Amino acid sequence: MSKPTLEDIVSLAKRRGFIFPSSEIYGGVAGVYDYGPLGVALKHNIENLWWSSFVTAWEDMYAMDAAILMNPKVWKASGHVDTFTDPLEDGSKFNTMFKTSAGVGKEVSTTYLRPETAQGIFVNFKNVVDVFSPDLPFGIAQIGKGFRNEISPRDFLFRLREFDMMEIEYFIHPDKWEEAFEQWRAGMQTFFKKLGLHNVGELDVPEKERAHYSKKTIDFEFDFPFGKKELAGLAYRTDFDLKAHQKASGKSLEYRPKDNSKPFIPHVIEPSFGLDRLVLAVLTAAYSEDVPPQTSSEVSGGEQGGLPTKTSRPPKISGETLVGKEVSVGEKRTYLKLPADVAPIKVAVFPLLKNKPELVKKAREVYKMLKDELGEVMWDDNGNIGKRYRRQDEIGTPYCVTIDFQTLEDNTVTLRNRDTTEQRRTKTSRITDALL
Ligand code: ATP
Repeated sequence: MSKPTLEDIVSLAKRRGFIFPSSEIYGGVAGVYDYGPLGVALKHNIENLWWSSFVTAWEDMYAMDAAILMNPKVWKASGHVDTFTDPLEDGSKFNTMFKTSAGVGKEVSTTYLRPETAQGIFVNFKNVVDVFSPDLPFGIAQIGKGFRNEISPRDFLFRLREFDMMEIEYFIHPDKWEEAFEQWRAGMQTFFKKLGLHNVGELDVPEKERAHYSKKTIDFEFDFPFGKKELAGLAYRTDFDLKAHQKASGKSLEYRPKDNSKPFIPHVIEPSFGLDRLVLAVLTAAYSEDVPPQTSSEVSGGEQGGLPTKTSRPPKISGETLVGKEVSVGEKRTYLKLPADVAPIKVAVFPLLKNKPELVKKAREVYKMLKDELGEVMWDDNGNIGKRYRRQDEIGTPYCVTIDFQTLEDNTVTLRNRDTTEQRRTKTSRITDALL
């Protein structure tokens, strides 16, 4: 299908409980959104995938969770007080850091809500080195809120005033920067693919447009509904930050090589991701519409009589048979083709009829079994099965399980695939194998 509009995404996100305007009953706030139940799950899943890809999978990565409020001297030394500005229409410059004050009376001091998590990492560099004595290269990773008083917040989750960032400072010997840069470039692309983002472009940012600290920057660009825009960045920050903090704090931030060679200030490669922009990109890439093909609901008979159609996949596990595609065909449907890892709900469980206690009882058993195993499982007994499929399609649930009268006889259920709409009968005990 052609690209969804931003309106399609915003409307689905609200209708299905992913994302709401903040303080909506008071008319909202510019540049701020609240994540609802399914949005939280989607965001956590993306965050967890990032954490497993870049933190736990690496031998040389240290995690950090630094505070949002920092000593204001940090922002002076880092250059943000002087240069973190956007131009106003009259040509003057507006610093986009949020100012706030801490303390009372004479003790009151002006500080800032951090505009990036990176500085929390730089000021802890010495702590990590002193405690863990890591070899170079090593990284420090952090996920947390960032705040920017954007002059014109816009495009839903794209340009916010409060957002989540996922950043890594990867400390290297300056001779090795090109190698490390390439390693991270490739690693970031692999991560995007895991999220279902297969066409992320790379823009080598020209010198005059780079941040004050950067010697090379790649903007990873995604084709959002409003055009190709930055999704994440990769920057070679040199030794700019550690050097600046060493100078301003008077504390040595040099690294002492274990072979007793000359101490030096490490250089840094910084992969930087905006979590909310990733959520928006994932929703955009997953947004799909189709008209399920016109096939009868019974294309095959019993255990042996499967007549797989051209598009159907062969049974994954023994005892699984193709039942057919769903009956409510010919109507357009909207579905989110989310990778299973990030889908907020992995499987939904339905009793065929909600007024048949024996079906409901059996369905509750299956629901409980799956819930214990997978956690992200939803129960739905509202409306007819076709409507329940549509609801699950819209929230990107990869599979639905229906408990019907046959289940009571032979302990098999109907397992329905989101993308193909194909239905198969599977033994209850084999449902989770079939989901893999
Ligand atoms: P832009 O040019 O779009 O303002 P930037 O180059 O200032 O972004 P960085 O400072 O590199 O962005 O921030 C790292 C990442 O944080 C960005 O790639 C983006 O994903 C995210 N990000 C930055 N600003 C915002 C914002 N206002 N709202 C949501 N995410 C943001």
